Amino acid sequence: EFRTPDALADAELWTAHNYHPLPVVVAEAEGSWVTDVDGRRYLDFLAGYSALNFGHRHPGLIAAAHAQLDKVTLTSRAFVHDRFAEFCGGLARLCGKDLVLPMNTGAEAVETAIKVARKWGYRVKGVPDGQAEIIVAADNFHGRTTTIVSFSTDPDARADFGPYTPGFVVVPYGDLDAVRAAITPNTVAVLMEPIQGEAGVLVPPAGFFAGLRELCTADNVLLIADEIQSGLGRTGKTFAIEHEGVVPDMYVLGKALGGGIVPVSAVAADRDVLGVLKPGEHGSTFGGNPLACAVGAEVVTLLAGGEFQERSERLGARLHAGLTELIGHGVVAVRGRGLWAGVDIDPALMTGRQACERLAERGVLAKDTHGSTIRLAPPLVVTEEEIDQALAHLADVVKV
Ligand code: PLP
Repeated sequence: EFRTPDALADAELWTAHNYHPLPVVVAEAEGSWVTDVDGRRYLDFLAGYSALNFGHRHPGLIAAAHAQLDKVTLTSRAFVHDRFAEFCGGLARLCGKDLVLPMNTGAEAVETAIKVARKWGYRVKGVPDGQAEIIVAADNFHGRTTTIVSFSTDPDARADFGPYTPGFVVVPYGDLDAVRAAITPNTVAVLMEPIQGEAGVLVPPAGFFAGLRELCTADNVLLIADEIQSGLGRTGKTFAIEHEGVVPDMYVLGKALGGGIVPVSAVAADRDVLGVLKPGEHGSTFGGNPLACAVGAEVVTLLAGGEFQERSERLGARLHAGLTELIGHGVVAVRGRGLWAGVDIDPALMTGRQACERLAERGVLAKDTHGSTIRLAPPLVVTEEEIDQALAHLADVVKV
């Protein structure tokens, strides 16, 4: 007797329907693999939307978490704990920035970046009170809070959740002229994803971020890179924006920063920016807690070694070569970088959802984004054989 149907029905019964999960009930996981309640095994080619860059239950990360569980897990920021400086300092060095402010979820880190940029605008740039503007991209995804959905262009994310937070200007993604035209004396920041994840792994035109950097520097505007999904090794470099040789004024990080164990997010910036915050102006009970810092510090150590970035680049080339061969055979387009791909399935064949359901039946987990696009983002510990296996299943699913 299979346990999956009952487990699915129970989950439906007791929760808000804010997600539409594939009918897989996971019970265990290790590395690139998960096992469901009925003992079926799946290759995880979603990796928690890139929160599992180091794979499920990476031994070093699990050991760091176990060791910290036996010492102290939570202090609140009312006190300092002995893992705080280690994590924040390590992450600041990884980012090449003076300061780090740790939070928990991605959306909180984005909110932090918005607050810091606004305050910097008023106190450093001299923008008149209440007039700060932040330029964002169409089809962005930065999270689900009321302020963040205020500048979403996705009706599903935004409709019915107003009134909306003002102060955001939306321009087409990848359009430098549009950004130039949108900048005013009140512009405090440009906030963008170096590669748009939820939009379907959209890579901007070459030179876009380099151009943004020049514009922002010339006009005294902060360049904020939301690397929550694109960062921490996913694209073959520590940060996706590095592919353009660009250093933003602020990094926004999350997902993989928690090692797939605990929610850990952060912003990193220099003192002239992040230093505008004073005691009492921003905070989080759980942000920077000892367990999060212990895991986060180990994540920083793993990334400082460079092995994961190298794997992502090398194995990503294999993944993209294999996907490119499918163009014309059920696939119409492939985008991405490193171990990250947006794959447009021929809409005449099936939806992205159907493709993911058929992949799951064959033991590969992936998730659709919009319409006929599926997103592939395996853990960076994936092997060549596992990539070939997933590619063979995908070829089978979409073959005409
Ligand atoms: N920013 C980007 C680029 C993301 O991809 C996400 C999540 O998918 C977020 C922000 C929001 O992160 P969280 O779901 O942890 O709030």
